[in-house]
Amino acid sequence: MSKKLEELQKYLEKMNRYNHVVTLLYWDMRTGMPKGGFESHADAVAFFSTEQFQMSVAQELGDILDALMAPEEYENLDETWKFIVKRMKREFDKNKRIPTRVFEKYVRAQSEAEHFWEEAKNKSDYSIFAPKLKEIIELTKEITGYTDPEKEIYDALLNQYEEGMDSAIIDKIFGELKEELVPLIAQVTAIEKPANPKLEGRFDVDAQEKVQKMLLDYIGFSWEKGAVGRTEHPFTLNFSSKDVRVTNHYYENRPISSIFSAIHEGGHAIFEQNVNPEYNGTVAGSCCYMGIHESQSRFYENMLGRNKNFWIPIYEKLGEILPQFKEITLDEFYEEINRVENSFIRTESDELTYGIHIILRYEMEKAIFRDNVDVNDLPALWNKKMQEYLGITPRNEGEGILQDMHWSGGSFGYFPSYLLGNVYDGMLKEQVEKELGDIDTILAEGRILEITKWLNEKIHKYGSTRLPKDTIMEVCGREVTAQPLIKYFKEKYPLR
Ligand SMILES: [Zn+2]
Repeated sequence: MSKKLEELQKYLEKMNRYNHVVTLLYWDMRTGMPKGGFESHADAVAFFSTEQFQMSVAQELGDILDALMAPEEYENLDETWKFIVKRMKREFDKNKRIPTRVFEKYVRAQSEAEHFWEEAKNKSDYSIFAPKLKEIIELTKEITGYTDPEKEIYDALLNQYEEGMDSAIIDKIFGELKEELVPLIAQVTAIEKPANPKLEGRFDVDAQEKVQKMLLDYIGFSWEKGAVGRTEHPFTLNFSSKDVRVTNHYYENRPISSIFSAIHEGGHAIFEQNVNPEYNGTVAGSCCYMGIHESQSRFYENMLGRNKNFWIPIYEKLGEILPQFKEITLDEFYEEINRVENSFIRTESDELTYGIHIILRYEMEKAIFRDNVDVNDLPALWNKKMQEYLGITPRNEGEGILQDMHWSGGSFGYFPSYLLGNVYDGMLKEQVEKELGDIDTILAEGRILEITKWLNEKIHKYGSTRLPKDTIMEVCGREVTAQPLIKYFKEKYPLR
């Protein structure tokens, strides 16, 4: 191995130790830390993140990368290290261009905006958040001007979360979806279906946790490389492919919420656990494409978990752990987990209306960054779109424009990746059926691990080394299209 490559590996080792500490601190902050620990934890996170960021823009690293990019060195690298060096060099150059004073201003604005957003949301008063939102939008534009001077701003933002997917492609995909979904939803929701009263009442939270473990086992989560924790908002966090943590939140009166969070986060975790371990600690490991990541969590959650056949082999077990389910037939359960309803809150919506929530946000973001719509006009625009697409108008700003925290953290361009995940899933479902056979049969016969193995081989092991578009092309043999997802919805709804 070349001396320069050894130097890079040593450098990465040190950066990874900082990263490891920061990850551990986050895990503790969100799962076990008492309130009183907040300040010292936040201090430590800030310290170690800054150290890590400084290492990522240090001239020493720049010199090592430049040396490795020289043809005589580069030619001798294997494919993985070629990818790593090239990717690191690109990120290094981008970060280097941001003036420190602007970066610091942004970090401060971010934490202030989060703080004001929370207050605004609690009081349902957008005017508290609006000035901070304006500031964070302006700073996002300024920073993007440094990092991606050659790109249109909103395309640059989209690229941060799903590299290679720009607004021209997304416009087409989301446009086709919108055209089909809006009338289909109107048709499905015309027949009102009230919630099943058998699912009201108290469901023991410890038993719900047992259900989560049973489900994780069932779909192929590895306990050797994984652990579970409790938190406020479920998430998955990974140190490396050998240590991936999932969390869940158990509401006594909403067992279905924890059941589907368990499957969703389990999908994210199975992905990370199966990335080629040789990529650990480098930019090749841990998938950084949010659309592809969401496609995996959502494949388990929707394509498999909301299929009746998924439950056939385990429904009795569910009743053994949570006895109330003995009173609910599988058909009733299936109806309930697929009940379509026009609702205000994205995170609580069903798989059919979910797409509309995302398309609305995508259009809002384009209005912000492309049409420069004034921040004070955004709530009215939000409500107008909600009325147009789902026929409902939020009663207050808390259940309207203030519901998500993404924008307060400066995460513009993130939302579309959720729906892209669903779009990829429509295609992946078709491909699984082509290669493995009918999904209903595989699930009904309890052979779900065959699907997990297929996903491991086709997608997971590659980590970040393949761009989303290329992944879809290589796995499905064609470009990204919404048609399979539309077909899936049309065949499934109205439920029969
Ligand atoms: Zn997710």
